[in-house]
Amino acid sequence: MRPNKTALLFVIGLAAVLTAASAFAGVRTVTSRGKSYVTLSGMANYYGMSVTQPAKTRIRMQNKYNKIEFETDSRSVWINGTLIALNEPVRKVGWSWAVDTTDFNKTIEPVSRPSEFLKTAGTRTVVLDPGHGGDDKGASSPRNLQEKAVTLDVAKRVKAKLESRGINVELTREADRNLELDARCRKAGALRADLLVSIHANSAGKNRNVRGAETFVLALPGRYSSNSYGGGKLPTATNTGNRYDAANMILSYRIQQNLIKATGQEDRGIKRARFEVLRDAPCPATLVEMAFLSNPKDESIVMDPAGRDRIARGIADGIAAYLSDVSRAKAK
Ligand SMILES: [Zn+2]
Repeated sequence: MRPNKTALLFVIGLAAVLTAASAFAGVRTVTSRGKSYVTLSGMANYYGMSVTQPAKTRIRMQNKYNKIEFETDSRSVWINGTLIALNEPVRKVGWSWAVDTTDFNKTIEPVSRPSEFLKTAGTRTVVLDPGHGGDDKGASSPRNLQEKAVTLDVAKRVKAKLESRGINVELTREADRNLELDARCRKAGALRADLLVSIHANSAGKNRNVRGAETFVLALPGRYSSNSYGGGKLPTATNTGNRYDAANMILSYRIQQNLIKATGQEDRGIKRARFEVLRDAPCPATLVEMAFLSNPKDESIVMDPAGRDRIARGIADGIAAYLSDVSRAKAK
């Protein structure tokens, strides 16, 4: 039977309308066992990316703006080379590999298209928060380098570097003194902070092998912190800092990306956590763990003023990159 020509044209026309509608409505999602996913092929279509498989467990997609590389059955994603922890592993849904829709919306989208997510963000005042101080020494290194001193030194260097670019910077503390966590967020609020960067150094205790830099972004309501994935009851509370989920992620990404570039340290990635300074932040915020004081190699970087200066340059470059993202978003 010959198909009716009018009916055929109608079907072709309808298909075109549906395709156009789905392109404007955003990425297509699929549901499996009550959970929403974005397939990697659907994501590649949405971004106009080509897909390759550089290794058995790796799926890479790329366009002229971004390169996103997934590891199958894993929570690791590398966006333009920077490691980020997803909330859920990349899973097989039916025949397709797929990511959790929240991971797509809250991690991949803001990092891939920052100017779409920063239109209401500010650029006037950067507040740096040197971790610990006074009686609270923070972590210590085998050669007795104290975290509270390292964080203040690095924060002052970041401040000087940003000020030389004409950026207004304030510190939550300028001296070796006690400052409670809630007071740090209150101070950022009083200073009308447009962004808050809390600066810390890590320790793995007696384990001397762990090293590298990592940056923490506030965990999402109903989702695990990266370091306690799958453990215990899921915290469902929405915190003040969750108002800035997209900006929190972009700020963390820019800092981690530039910190690794400036220091060549091991990239431990961007992770989710519920640190108080992130939960109560009155503006986009991030927490940087610049190095492991418990690791001999990291310790020698941090003991050397030139090493601390490279760390400070990385953090300052990251903040400047975020501020450029905001300016571009506002100019659009
Ligand atoms: Zn600390």
